[in-house]
Amino acid sequence: MKELRVPVTERRRITRNRIYNLIYESRLPLSKLEISQTLGLSLPTVYQNITELLNAGLIEVGQVQRSRGGRRPVGYSVVSNVKFAVGISITAGKLRFLASDLKLKELAYKNIAIESFESEDIGKQVAKELEKFLDANRLHRNRMLGVGITMPAVMDEEKDEVKLSPTLRMHNISLSTIREPIPYTTHIENDGNSGGFAEWFESRHTVGSNIAYLYLENGVGGTVFINGAQYFGENKRSGEFGHMCVEPNGLLCNCGKRGCLEAYCSALRISKKLGITVEEFFNELKKGNNVDYQVLWQDVLEHLAIGINNIHVMLDCDIILGGFLSQYLEPYMPELKRLVAEKDTFEDNADYVKLCRYPHRADMMGVAWYYIKDYIEKI
Ligand SMILES: [Zn+2]
Repeated sequence: MKELRVPVTERRRITRNRIYNLIYESRLPLSKLEISQTLGLSLPTVYQNITELLNAGLIEVGQVQRSRGGRRPVGYSVVSNVKFAVGISITAGKLRFLASDLKLKELAYKNIAIESFESEDIGKQVAKELEKFLDANRLHRNRMLGVGITMPAVMDEEKDEVKLSPTLRMHNISLSTIREPIPYTTHIENDGNSGGFAEWFESRHTVGSNIAYLYLENGVGGTVFINGAQYFGENKRSGEFGHMCVEPNGLLCNCGKRGCLEAYCSALRISKKLGITVEEFFNELKKGNNVDYQVLWQDVLEHLAIGINNIHVMLDCDIILGGFLSQYLEPYMPELKRLVAEKDTFEDNADYVKLCRYPHRADMMGVAWYYIKDYIEKI
């Protein structure tokens, strides 16, 4: 396989990229004529670029398309396994690995229980398990775009450190101690940012260009997309919805303050308070005969509705509920929407509150897909 020729001009590269992306986004193989007509490019220009992309192994001849009579035109598809990216999630007691190809298909997944993390050794543990993961799944390192690591942590970009991760019990841990033992391009990102990115990237052509993503796990986080771009804020803390106050002087939060959304609506509130798993809680709740569970859940919903209404007041856009807690929410959406609508000054329904597509693994997908987005934009 030849590498793509360095284009003579940026203009030529942009043309090639438009062609590649059109083929990438198409569900069916596209013919040269379709590409020419859709992009308003001459057939010789399309022909030349298709040849370059074929020679570089980035596209291939797809199935022959049906046409009415005459010769059937040849269609082209992208070769999705030319490159892949790895997403790694570090959460309390768990290390998870996922590999994704260029078309966002999951190539491999692994989940390992970890007894306890010593902050200084996390990087080494991840590096060791990553090599095993790549070997076991025959993922060739020369095709790997990069390794993304996601953690439930507030990062400090400037100091390059984990400022705070209550669930991982980390405080001011340098990110280089995690990155350095890994011999590949590595990017570390907050889990809510990554999860929201997965949700947005996969459905970027169907959802609006503005969304807020509320990530409900053992912690509560989130992220915001404005005009089709992820907004990180001045300190990369935009969308840290978990630490929005929803009850002055209320329950103590992991961050040390009182009344945060996280203190009321995290999965940990349920499992810690009751000493059971979240799954057990929802199974019991469904049966409808445990009053204590019902009271607790109503309180979670009430505070969740306050948080959602606050986000909506500020951003006026769809609010996607993600994280593993979201998989249990469907039966309670009418009640949640009713509670949100009750607080809404401007609208009498809350249909802008939606459930995510990926209640599991979104953090790993997203942190891997940052590399894929970057790659397909630069071809
Ligand atoms: Zn807090």
